[in-house]
Amino acid sequence: MYTIICWRWVFSSRWLTEILPPGLAPALQDSSAALFSLFFPDDCRVCGKALREISRIPVCRECLDEPQPLVAEYFCASCRTPFQNRFPLGEDGRCALCRFGLRGFDAAYCFGAYQGTLRELIHLFKYGRIRTLARPLGERLASAIPRDQRFDLIVPVPLHWRRRFQRGFNQAALLAASVARRYAAPVVAAVRRRRSTATQAGLSNSKRRANVAGAFLVRRPRDVAGRRILLVDDVMTTGATASACAAALKRAGARYVAVLTLARVDRRASLEPIQAAPTAPQGAAS
Ligand SMILES: [Zn+2]
Ligand SMILES: [Zn+2]
Repeated sequence: MYTIICWRWVFSSRWLTEILPPGLAPALQDSSAALFSLFFPDDCRVCGKALREISRIPVCRECLDEPQPLVAEYFCASCRTPFQNRFPLGEDGRCALCRFGLRGFDAAYCFGAYQGTLRELIHLFKYGRIRTLARPLGERLASAIPRDQRFDLIVPVPLHWRRRFQRGFNQAALLAASVARRYAAPVVAAVRRRRSTATQAGLSNSKRRANVAGAFLVRRPRDVAGRRILLVDDVMTTGATASACAAALKRAGARYVAVLTLARVDRRASLEPIQAAPTAPQGAAS
């Protein structure tokens, strides 16, 4: 496996294009690709088509390019949760969770919806442990940061050490490092998870919030005091994890915390009934 990875890296197609005269490179690329697929046949891990380009990422160009930014006609002005209609939004354009002060963060930005190819890419990255996806996914993440916003620090949402040990890496930390290549701010692992929380899957909004409440601790409050922080994670479901992590940063003195995620669960089609604004925060889709 190690040999295959090195071989792919050494024989990247861009390398060939740079050193060979024009005209010769494509021919050699074709033959090296043919040779490559002869000895190391590989298919795109998303669509299953045979890979034509030699790359460290086992995903074809079409699949890498496919994810599109999330579009919504109605969304919360603060946490950017998309809604099917304007009813869950208050006069100020904010959703119930934001109006009731149940969000620990000041703003949330996100690239796309957690479905289709983007979801598959995130699964490959996180559970398939294809770390080389951090770069293309990080580029998408960086593109979701509003241009008029400036941040002093990029902070990844931490994993508990036990889970990081099982997985071998923290996906949020790799994404944060990738964002930092395009966005000039240092990455600081300012927060740690002080207890291992049960998995959030299958829990309701309020249970998710209770599950992660108090789970995060800022290592050195002086690192974050008075700073504007960009908190990075891979996926936002209800926002409970990001919210608890942001609340810890705020308690430690952070001036402003915005959450940046690659994908968010879009519940417009499945969960959100067409109804008047909810009276209790538990009724809000998030
Ligand atoms: Zn593909
Ligand atoms: Zn909101």
